[in-house]
Amino acid sequence: MENEANINRYDRQQRIKDWDQEKLTKGTVTIIGSDNLARYIAMPLAALGVGNIRIIDSAKGSDKDMLLDIPLEGKVRSQSLEQAIKKINPEVNVIGINSSLSTIAAQYFLQGSDIVIDATNDKLSKSHVIDYSLKTDVPVISASASQNKGKIIFHYYHQEPQPMILMPMLEGTEQGDLISLELGGVIAEETKKFLMGHKELLNIVYNYNLESDERFNFTSDREIKNADNHFKDKNILIVGTGALGGPFLGPATVINLKPARLDIMDYDTVEDHNLNRQVCFYDAVGRLKAERLKETLMAISGKDIEINAIIDKFTDQFKPDVRYDLIFDAVDSFFTKAILHNYAKQNKIPIISGGTDYRASTVIVYQPGETSCFDCQINLSELAIKTEIIRRTSCLQAPDPSVIMTNQIAGALMVGEARSVLRPDIYGRPVNGEIKYISDFDSRGGVNRLERTCNCHTKKVSSLELPDPERVEIKEKEIDGRIIKQVYLDGKMM
Ligand SMILES: [Zn+2]
Repeated sequence: MENEANINRYDRQQRIKDWDQEKLTKGTVTIIGSDNLARYIAMPLAALGVGNIRIIDSAKGSDKDMLLDIPLEGKVRSQSLEQAIKKINPEVNVIGINSSLSTIAAQYFLQGSDIVIDATNDKLSKSHVIDYSLKTDVPVISASASQNKGKIIFHYYHQEPQPMILMPMLEGTEQGDLISLELGGVIAEETKKFLMGHKELLNIVYNYNLESDERFNFTSDREIKNADNHFKDKNILIVGTGALGGPFLGPATVINLKPARLDIMDYDTVEDHNLNRQVCFYDAVGRLKAERLKETLMAISGKDIEINAIIDKFTDQFKPDVRYDLIFDAVDSFFTKAILHNYAKQNKIPIISGGTDYRASTVIVYQPGETSCFDCQINLSELAIKTEIIRRTSCLQAPDPSVIMTNQIAGALMVGEARSVLRPDIYGRPVNGEIKYISDFDSRGGVNRLERTCNCHTKKVSSLELPDPERVEIKEKEIDGRIIKQVYLDGKMM
């Protein structure tokens, strides 16, 4: 067996079929801008190990600007972002360039790029970048974000630029944290695919819009007036501070919700092979995740939020000293998810659950009386029993491959729905159904909507006890070249 302590930081992504780390290492990506969107693009690209990252912007830093717990207060923000990105992955070359693309002469700085990403809300910058692309055939990803909506267009070789590519509708607006986080994950995934030579790149306009009931179109159903005090009396629990809960859910909850109290629960310790995605633990190998994350969250929030680290595994014996208004499920075991879901259901606490694999993010919401429970949505209890039986009867299994992008996207989607769960009066109702991002689907994002709520009470709770091993048989079957394990209970396939 390999020694887990000496595994390289890219191990979990290199387990993906056809992954080409060397192409990422050789890549040169130029990002225009240093505001929220640029930061949330640079961060995952650095974590992936993209070898050369340039950040071009002349904006000044302020003492409020941070990336995770790293302040960006230097005189020139692109240069303080350079320093922050180097902490997240010291193996990549990052350069912050004190300029902007507001003049045509600045096109000079784009030379040598494999791809250019304009992450500004500035149509002059975007037009100079597109102009450069038309002259040189270097592809461009153009993106802009406001507080509640954003847009991505991928401009590829020999195309006529799409009319919306300068994004005048978002010109000069303030880039919101949550929208930037979501778009940043999608952009990093497209950039990775381009550098690795994949052909199926984004060829539609990608929108994410929290003012729309559909979420992935640009037309708004309501106008949201954001304010810092909308959740000031709420208590929130995050279970799991790994790839999803650590770098994304935790910070996004503190920045975007500012609840009264945030409890974070995890028993796990940071290891080298976490660093390709758990970017908040850049200096914390060997430390407890929840304790290190608490430091980051306190650095972001100042003293405004009570933050508690609970070093434990979630079980149905959990007795908190507070009533939670919301639970975020960021654990990766279906069995723990099911126990957590039953706890939420019995105590009538809304729960938002996130799941990822290396190409997809899934978010589901259970709000008593508003949406269906997870047993009715995805048959969670049965899934939990099945996967737990397989886990307990199999010998050591290879770890699942994992990347940063789908975790970043899921974290943003979860906090987006949390606003609606906690304050539907301001943010509209949460989505009833599965919210999905799938990297190789044409539309990338979508909602599998359910039209009803359920009234099934606690019927599935007792079924979480595992059946007697003698009643169970596991058979292996090959489907499309992959070995799938099937569980039979009393001779019937589950
Ligand atoms: Zn139900």
